[in-house]
This record gives sequence, C-alpha cells and structure tokens, in this order.
Amino acid sequence: MIVILLGPPGAGKGTQAEALTQKYGIPHVATGDIFRANLALGTPLGLEAKGYMDQGTLVPDELVVRLVADRLSQPDALKGCLLDGFPRTVAQAEALEAFLAQASPPRSIDACLLLEVPDEELEKRLTGRRVCRGCGASWHTIFSPPPVDNKCPSCGGEIYQRADDSLETIKNRLAVYHAQTKPLVAWYQRKGKLKIVSGLGQPAEVRQAIFQALG
Ligand code: AMP
Repeated sequence: MIVILLGPPGAGKGTQAEALTQKYGIPHVATGDIFRANLALGTPLGLEAKGYMDQGTLVPDELVVRLVADRLSQPDALKGCLLDGFPRTVAQAEALEAFLAQASPPRSIDACLLLEVPDEELEKRLTGRRVCRGCGASWHTIFSPPPVDNKCPSCGGEIYQRADDSLETIKNRLAVYHAQTKPLVAWYQRKGKLKIVSGLGQPAEVRQAIFQALG
C-alpha cells in the first residue's frame, strides 16, 4: 500500500503518520525528517538542503526525487510506504508516478489523503510547535505543553523549536504551499486518488476520519 499524506505545514501530517504506519505496517517516509537528520549529521545532502529549509522554500525537485527513489528502493519500502511531505510539486508527482510505473511489477499509489486546515489555524499551530530532535514527537506551547525540562519522555531527546517555525518563515512556507503544492489536489483528483479529511479537531478524531477515508 502506498499512501501520500498531503496537506499544508502544520496540518498534523507527522502526528497522524505514526498511527497510519502502525495500522498498515508500512514505513514512514518523511522528506523533511530525512533532510533534518542529514543536517544534524552534517552530510552534503543536509548542507545542500539547509538554505532552502531555513527560508521555507522548496529543495530542488531533482534532489528530492533522487532521495525518495533511493528510499523507495530499500527492502522495507517494497511492500509500500506512507509518503509525508512528498510530492510537493506536480513535477515531483509526475516523477513519482514514472518511478513506480517502471518497477517490476509496475506499482502505483493507492490514495492521496489531503488533510485540510485553514491558514489562520496553521499559523497558531506552527508558532507554538515544539518537536523532539530524537524521535520527532511534537508538542504545543499552549495546547499540549512539553515537559519543563525539555526532554522527550519517550526517547530522552531534546525538545526544540524548528528554525523554520518562526512567523516569517511560516508565512513563506504557507505561500509556497498554496503556489506549488496545492495544484496537486486537482492533479490527484483527476487521477481518482484524492481523499479529503478535515485536520481540525482532536488528533484521535482526525485519525478515525482518516481510517474511514482509507477504508
Ligand atoms: P517539512 O518537515 O515537511 O515541513 O519539510 C521541511 C522543509 O524541507 C521544507 O520547507 C522544504 O524546504 C524541505 N522539503 C521537505 N520535503 C520536500 C519536498 N518534497 N520538496 C522540496 N522540499 C522539501
């Protein structure tokens, strides 16, 4: 099963991804997480992505497509995967489709699930977001405050604010989403693969709606 989790930054893709990967037994492939892990390790890939990420703009398509093609060729992803944060442009979606079609036997995505959340809500969510450097778990300064010692209760990692969660960068990321990623909604709708779920409400409610939509 190959599922794409589509939605603006802050829609709750990372939060929902955990439950989905557990339920369907597929790996979570989050391009943003892969870039951040590479940046933390100081790899050439991480350093190349850093400038784009800091500004909230997109890393060039060729680089991301190569990265995802490599990841999808690994044994654990042959049975499927949950794509989170990819594709983000129509060119990436076309490259993904072509990559899957040339596999033997040919593959294709099962569904593209859009998590819809209005921009005002996203700004509120993202400015208060705090995440664990180790496992990616997230908190919110108002809605679910992190532990006072800023240590993740699950893995002991440091809880921090992502550099790209400042208000200025958030506004840029939302503009980039509307200009470059939103066209994918119509693209996947035309392919008959789009499922839309509201990302508003408690994470458990959203999770139920996603399970229902995916069947
Ligand atoms: P995310 O964690 O998904 O919000 O991604 C953080 C940043 O990584 C984005 O703002 C982009 O700079 C970069 N990034 C992640 N995924 C992609 C992608 N599919 N295409 C281009 N850039 C990406």
